[in-house]
Amino acid sequence: MSAKIKLTCPECGQVNQLPADKAQAAPKCGVCGHALNDGKVAALDFKTLEKAARNDDLPLLVDFWAPWCGPCRAMAPEFEKAARSLTPRVRLAKIDTQANPDATVRFNIRGIPAFILFHKGREIGRLAGARPAADLERFVAERMALAKG
Ligand code: ZN
Repeated sequence: MSAKIKLTCPECGQVNQLPADKAQAAPKCGVCGHALNDGKVAALDFKTLEKAARNDDLPLLVDFWAPWCGPCRAMAPEFEKAARSLTPRVRLAKIDTQANPDATVRFNIRGIPAFILFHKGREIGRLAGARPAADLERFVAERMALAKG
């Protein structure tokens, strides 16, 4: 199994290439040493999100939120719960749309919280509105099943 997969570092933006069997074994960034897949929700900026959405070979579920958004803040613990349960098969990240307004435009976000699932360079699903972790997990499972077919 010498297949390589790509994972973008949430911290420094480096696109790491790893053997596929290492991608789910607590890999670290080759440049900055940050964990690449540890079950924590990484905070991305717009540039890093674009890179990850374009390059990553593991599915990436992104929470578009803002500090002023009450439902977003209420949703955060559920998103973290989903991250613990979906890792290492799926990575979860969030982006502050107030600090990164370009992301709202680029990904056509009409309301927050919004969740977009990316896989292999494309968007494979999106959800709007706060919801429990179990809903997010079901959404990811359904979209991934479709993506395989
Ligand atoms: Zn890094």
